[in-house]
Order: sequence, then structure tokens, then C-alpha cells
Amino acid sequence: MSRTIRTLDPTTGEPTATYEGWDADRVETAVARAHTASRTWALVPVAERAARAADLARSLREHKDHLASLAVAEMGKPVREAEGEVEKSAVTAEYYARQGPAILADERVEVDGAKAWVAYEPVGLVLAVMPWNFPVWQVMRFAVPSLVAGNGVLLKHASNVTGSALALQDLFVEAGFPEHLVTALVLADTDVPDTTARLIEDDRVAAVTLTGSNRAGAAVGAAAGRAAKKSVLELGGSDAFVVLDDADVEAAAAAAVKARFTNSGQSCVCAKRFVVAAPVADAFTAAFVAGVEALRLGDPRERHTQIGPLARDDLRAAIQRQVEDSLAAGARLLTGGKPVPGDGFFYRPTVLADTGPGMPAFDEETFGPLAALTVARDDDHAVRLADASSYGLGLSIWTADPDRGVALARRITSGAAFVNAVVASDPRLPFGGTKRSGYGRELAAAGIREFTNTRTYWVT
Ligand code: NDP
Repeated sequence: MSRTIRTLDPTTGEPTATYEGWDADRVETAVARAHTASRTWALVPVAERAARAADLARSLREHKDHLASLAVAEMGKPVREAEGEVEKSAVTAEYYARQGPAILADERVEVDGAKAWVAYEPVGLVLAVMPWNFPVWQVMRFAVPSLVAGNGVLLKHASNVTGSALALQDLFVEAGFPEHLVTALVLADTDVPDTTARLIEDDRVAAVTLTGSNRAGAAVGAAAGRAAKKSVLELGGSDAFVVLDDADVEAAAAAAVKARFTNSGQSCVCAKRFVVAAPVADAFTAAFVAGVEALRLGDPRERHTQIGPLARDDLRAAIQRQVEDSLAAGARLLTGGKPVPGDGFFYRPTVLADTGPGMPAFDEETFGPLAALTVARDDDHAVRLADASSYGLGLSIWTADPDRGVALARRITSGAAFVNAVVASDPRLPFGGTKRSGYGRELAAAGIREFTNTRTYWVT
């Protein structure tokens, strides 16, 4: 059976590299080493672990150009965004270097007749199944807090970013983390479901986290359930961007373009459904479509490019299907709506109007440059439309009255609510989903504690 992994440059569709996927023996050797490394690491004082995170921030910045160029070549991210992703990862590493020891410190609890405290101790080796859309950030967002907490990381990165996975593994070693503590598993896609399920059952693997599709999340969550192990799932989103009748329409439209088309539309927290109050719908739509049509699509290596190719051709085909089926169900095409002819996996930034429940652009996660507009009669209707999704990750509401925005947000389910701001993750705040967007949190204190043993001590 061939285990060859071939990566393609999405800008040209040409092959970039090949890797030999590991067989069961090689996986076993890697797991054994990673397990040993994680047991030793758990005994290292937290201050020292945090110091390595500070070194990692320096290494990330030093290798920013290389990591960014790998992301461009492997998944087609516009280069300026790729550099921003590395910088954000460095900032996050600094955050945990500074805050990790305090967050993980013992917490004294007053009890009668004894000394009691709560400790946050390492759980061991954690399997991390990661996606390609932010090849550096997705890994760092999980790995840095987990390492500072004293755990080891088995990284199963998406196969189309295998080069990035291996570069990151080297970076951890360069920053002074022990060898094998972060191990990138190179797995052919045919081996992925069985090997990950087996690893989740393995006694040496303590827990699992996955960022990716609902399909992969359900498989990993089920395996974790069978093994009675902790899991965190960060899955898709179909978040609403709600524009109320008192909003600054020009500002909201400019923010909406950014919210939808960052990373060429391939982000779980990209706003995907735009719920606009009827009195401002025409003005918002005109400004939004003008903003979308002004986006510069092209070679992601060019610094002025804002929209690159999609990461894979099958992802482009999925967007095309969602557009066609939504149009057949009554949506109206305002701009875009087709692939860009020629090389690479480019798709025209697309806006559909008159969307609603029953259409793929409204009901499904759309992972590419596709925006779905819908008009709300009043606030109650806006709440119903925004909440009419099986997903719930990051809601954004635009209004001149922030209190009204917060009050409305309380009636809509999501893991985060932003008023007059574009949804984004921030190391100081927890990040994660509700409903089919997953469970558990990453980042901040909540994120680092997901993979700790919250341990009670009672000493008399
Ligand atoms: P996947 O969920 O298939 O890939 C994410 C990761 O999961 C990859 O490392 C993948 O490995 C792995 N994986 C896939 N199947 C399994 C399985 N059965 N058991 C364990 N691991 C598995 O996403 P796709 O790349 O196929 O993208 C499909 C859709 O998923 C997108 O269109 C988007 O809607 C959503 N998505 C959401 C993301 C998010 O940030 N929430 C990120 C990426 C995708 P391998 O690459 O080797 O197949």
C-alpha cells in the first residue's frame, strides 16, 4: 500500500513535495519516545517551562519568513496574512510565558482542620489533530499552553501542510523544548482514521484535541468517548454578522468584508451569514458588494494580494456546489459565483442575497469566499435568523447602542459575542464553540486548564 503524501501548490496546482507516510512501527517508536519525553517534562518546574515559551516566541519571529513562505506554498495564504499568523503565535507564546505560571499556581482553599489546595498538574501526552487553514497558529494555540502546563504533544497535522508540521517540530527543539516532546506524526490519509483511533485508545495518550470539520470531530470525539478520555473539539462555524437599523452602515460594511474574506474565507470564525435590518439593507448591501469587488485576488506571494486560492481543489468544488444549490433554492447572485479560469484553485469572491434556511449557503459551513445575505424585519427576526444555525462560534453585532447589542447577543447562542468588532481569537480570552461548533475552550486560563489534572490536596 502506498503511503506517499503529495503536497500541491494551490496557486498553480503543481506538486511541491512528497513525504513518506509512517507505518505502524514508526508510529510506535515515535509514541514511545514522546511518552518518555512528556513524563520527564512534567517534572520540570513551571517557570522553566514558561521560559521555553518565551524562547519559542523569539524563534517564531526569527523564522517568520520561512514559516510564512511554507504556508503560502502549501495552502495559498496571502503572504502578509501568513506573516501576521506567525506574529500572533509569537504574542501568544509570550502571553503564556508571562501568565502561565500564575494561572497554574496552586489555589489555597480554606477548610476546617486541614490545609487544602487545588493544583493544576500535567495530564501527559496529548494528541492534537490540526487543520491546514492556519498551519502555524492552530498548532501554537494548543501546543504552547499545553507545553507550559507540562504536557507533551503528538501533532497530527493536516497532510497538505506536512512541511509546516515538520518545520514547527524543529522550531520547538530550537527553542529549547526537549527532543520528541513535540512529535509531528506523518500519516497518509488512508491511515489517519485508524491510527488516530488507535492512539486515542493507547494508555500512553492522555487526551485529544481536534480542530477541523464536524466529520473528523465526530470520529475523534467518538473514539475519545469509547476510551473515556478527555477531548476538546474546535469545529466549524456559520456565524452571523448582524447589522441593526442604527448601525454605522459604512463601517459595518467595511468590517464585514474583513470578517468574511480573511484567509480567503477559510476560517472557522469568519462571519458567514450577514443578517441585515431592513431599513439599512440596501445601503449595507451596496457598500458591502463594492468592498468585495475591490478585493485584490491573485498570487498570494504578492504583498498586495488580499484573496489567494483555496487550499485544495475539492474545497473549491464544495463552494461551487453550495453556490449552485443556493441559487437553485432561490438565492440571488450579486457578484462572483464561479471559479477563476486558469491555473490554481481560485474562486471569485461571491455574495448571495435573499438567502435563508433551507439553502446550503445559510445552513452549512461555507469555507471559502462566499457571503450569504439575509434581511431581518426587526430585532426579533434578526435574533431568530442569527440563531437558526446548527453552529455557534463567534457572533458579531453592529449597532450605535452597545447595550442593545449585548442584550440581543444574550438571545443568540455562541462561544463569543463581539459588538461593533470583528470576531477574532485573543490569547487573553477563551475561544471555542457551542452546538455543532464543538466543546471545550482554547486560550486564556480556561484553555490551559483544559489539559491539566485539577487536583485536590487535603493535608492534616
Ligand atoms: P478535516 O476535518 O478532514 O481535516 C482536519 C484534520 O482532521 C486534518 O488533520 C485531517 O487529516 C484530520 N482528519 C480527517 N479525518 C479524520 C478522522 N476520521 N480521524 C481523525 N482525524 C481526521 O477538514 P478538511 O480539510 O477536509 O476540510 C473540510 C471542511 O472542514 C472545510 O470545508 C471546513 O468546513 C471544515 N474545516 C474547519 C476548520 C476549522 O477551523 N474549524 C479547519 C479545517 C476545515 P488529513 O489532512 O490527513 O485528512
